[in-house]
Amino acid sequence: VGELPRRVRVVVEAPQHAAMAVALDYLSDRALPAGTLVRVPLGKREVTGVVWDEEPAGAAARPHTVPTELRPVAQVFDALAPLGAGWRALVSFAAGYYQRTVGELALSVLPPELRRIDGVALARRLARLRARGLADAVAAQPATPDPGAVEQPELDAAQQAALQAIATAAAHQPPAAVLLHGVTGSGKTEVYLRQAARVLAQGRQVLVLVPEINLTPQLEARFAARFPGHRLVAMHSGLTPARRLRHWLLAHLGEADLVLGTRLAVFASLPRLGLIVVDEEHDASYKQQEGARYSARDLAVWRGRAESVPVLLGSATPSLESWQRALEGRYCHVALPGRIGGGALPRVRFVDMNLLPRTRGVTTALAAPLVEAIESRIARGEQSLLLLNRRGYAPVLHCADCGWKSDCPHCSAWRVFHKSDRTLRCHHCGYTQRVPRACPACGNPDIQPLGRGTEKLEEQIAELLPTARVARIDADTARRRGALEASLAAVHAGDVDVLVGTQMIAKGHDFRRITLVAAVNPDTALFASDFRAPERLFALLMQAAGRAGRDAQQAAGSEMWLQTWHPRHALYAALRAHDYEAFAASQLAERRSAGLPPFTHLALLRAEARQAAQAAAFLEAAAQAMAGLDGAEAVTVYPPVPPAVARVANVERLQMLLESPSRRALQRLLTAWREPLTALRAEHRGVLRWAIDVDPLTI
Ligand code: ADP
Ligand code: ZN
Ligand code: ZN
Repeated sequence: VGELPRRVRVVVEAPQHAAMAVALDYLSDRALPAGTLVRVPLGKREVTGVVWDEEPAGAAARPHTVPTELRPVAQVFDALAPLGAGWRALVSFAAGYYQRTVGELALSVLPPELRRIDGVALARRLARLRARGLADAVAAQPATPDPGAVEQPELDAAQQAALQAIATAAAHQPPAAVLLHGVTGSGKTEVYLRQAARVLAQGRQVLVLVPEINLTPQLEARFAARFPGHRLVAMHSGLTPARRLRHWLLAHLGEADLVLGTRLAVFASLPRLGLIVVDEEHDASYKQQEGARYSARDLAVWRGRAESVPVLLGSATPSLESWQRALEGRYCHVALPGRIGGGALPRVRFVDMNLLPRTRGVTTALAAPLVEAIESRIARGEQSLLLLNRRGYAPVLHCADCGWKSDCPHCSAWRVFHKSDRTLRCHHCGYTQRVPRACPACGNPDIQPLGRGTEKLEEQIAELLPTARVARIDADTARRRGALEASLAAVHAGDVDVLVGTQMIAKGHDFRRITLVAAVNPDTALFASDFRAPERLFALLMQAAGRAGRDAQQAAGSEMWLQTWHPRHALYAALRAHDYEAFAASQLAERRSAGLPPFTHLALLRAEARQAAQAAAFLEAAAQAMAGLDGAEAVTVYPPVPPAVARVANVERLQMLLESPSRRALQRLLTAWREPLTALRAEHRGVLRWAIDVDPLTI
C-alpha cells in the first residue's frame, strides 16, 4: 500500500479573493503528517505550502479514488519537524475569525525566508544553526544597566500577592487570563520575570509580546540578564531575513526558551510553550493594519486557552475590552497599586491656555511658568520631556493672500512642511516636493507655516532656552539606522536636557533623570471623531507621565504638565488623580449607552476604487447581499462613509460598519458573506481592493 500515491491536502499562500479558498490536493508517494512543509507546483510556479489535513482514514486503501490529474508534491522539507497541532489550530482560528484563507495566514506568519528557500537550502541552514550553537543568543546591553536586572530584588507584598493570584489563575482549566494592572514602575516586569522563571524551571518556553521592540531595549536586556542560562531570541520585522529565520527555527526546534517579539511573534511555533506575556496590552500596534488584520493580544488570549497556558496582560491603562472582561470576572484582575519603593507619581499641573497673554494672536509654544519649570530642572541637572504628537515642522503651509494651502494632489490631506530638508511631504502617500519659493497659486513670496510639529517645537525651545541641550526623537529622526539608539543613549547618559518627541518617547523607556513631562498640545485628541480617541489619549498621557520620576529619589519633585484650553475636562481630571478606574468607568458608561465596544462587536467592510461612487456601489450591493444570510438578523449595517482621510494616492476609500451585540452572530454572518462578496467583486470591476476588518481599532 505504501507504494501507492496518496492524496495530501496542502495550504498555499492565496489571497482572500483568489478563487482557491481551501486547501489544494496533491499526490505524495508516502504519508505526510499535518504541519509538514512542502514545495508544490502552483500553475507555472513552485511554492511553499503546509500539509494541513491528515489523510482521511481509508483513503490510502482506495488508491483508485485518487484522480490522475493531481500533481505530485515537488519536495518535502524532511529536515524540519512538522508545525504542531497547537500552531495549526491557532492559524485556523485566526483565519476564520479574521476572514482570511488558512493558506494566506499560515504562509504570511512564517518567516519570509522560509517561504523563499527550498528543502535542500533549509537543511543546510539547519545544519549551520546547530553548528553555531548559542551564538545568536546575545541581547543588546542597556545604556544604563538596571541593577534590578541581574539580582532578584525582594518582592514587595503586592508583587507576592500578584504571583500568588497568577498561580491560582494558572491552575484553572483552562487557565484564566490575568490582567496585571499597575502604573509604570509598579513592578510589573519583575512579576513577568518571576513567572517566567517558574515556567523556565519546568522546562517550558516563554513568549513575551511587546508593542515595538526598538522602543523597549531594556526589556530584552532585563530578560537576557536575568536568565543567562537560557536562550532568548527576538522576533520582529526589523531583523534581517536570515536572522529572522534563525530565530524562528530556534523557537520551533525548542532550542530557544524565551521569545521576545512584536505582534507577529504570537504566531511563533513553540512546542513547549508555558507562558505568554503581553506587555502594554492596550497598545494599538498589537492590531495588524493590513492583510489579515489580527489582534495579537486577542490571539494571545485565545492561544493561551487553547494550549492551557497562562496569559499575563500587563498595562497601566488596560484596554477597555480587557478591563470590562476583568470586571465581569472573565479575566483575573491583579493590581499593583503603587510605585516600587513608594515612589510618588508625578504631580499633574495644568496651564490654562485661555488665561495666557497672546502675541500677535498666536500663543507661544510654551507658557512662561512651564519654561521656568524646565529651566529649574536644567539647573538641577534633571531632564525634561516634551510630548507633541505631530512630526514635521508645521502640518500645513498657507498663503495669506490667496488662501492656498499645501494640500496633497493625491490625497485628501495636507502636506506637512519639513524644515530640515525643506520639503513638503504627504504622510499618507509619501509624495514629496521641495518647498516652493513662492505661493504656487498667486506668486506671493510670503507663505507661512500654520500650526506646529516637533521640528518647530525643537526650534522654539532652542530659542527660549539657548543654553539647553535639546534632542528630538520622532519617526523622522529615527529613520537613519542607529539614530534612535544613539539619541536614547544620549538621554540616558545625561547629555540631553530637553527631549522633544512624539508618542515614541512616551513608551517604555526607562529614563532615570526625567522629572518633568509636558504635553504641549494634547487637546486635539479630545474632540477627535473616533470613539477610541479619549482612551488612546488617556493611555498616552498616563504612559508619558510614567516617564517622570522613575528614580524614587527624584520622584517627589516630578511633574506632568498639560497645556490645555480645557483644563476642567473629565479626562484631565481623571489624569490629575492618576485614576484609571474612574476614567474607565465613565468611558464604559458612555460606550454602553452608545452601543459601542466592548458592549457590541464591530466589523468594517472596506472598499477602494478610483471613484468613490464605485466603492459605494460595491458596499451597497454588499449590504443587499447580506439579506437572509445566517446571522444577519442580529447585525446592524450602517451606510457607507469615508474614513478620516478618504483619498490616498488617488484611491478613494469607503467603509461600511457592521455592529452586533453577538460576536457569534457577527462571525456567522461574515463567514456566510464571503462567497457573495467574492462574486460581487467580479461584477464591480472598478473596485481595486476590499477587505473585512474584524474588531477594527478606528472607525
Ligand atoms: P514596571 O514594569 O511596572 O514599569 P518594573 O518591574 O520595571 O516596573 O519595576 C520598576 C523598577 O523597580 C525597576 O528598576 C525594577 O528593577 C525595580 N523593582 C521591581 N521590583 C522590585 C522590588 N520588589 N524591590 C526593589 N526593586 C524592584
Ligand atoms: Zn497665494
Ligand atoms: Zn498624499
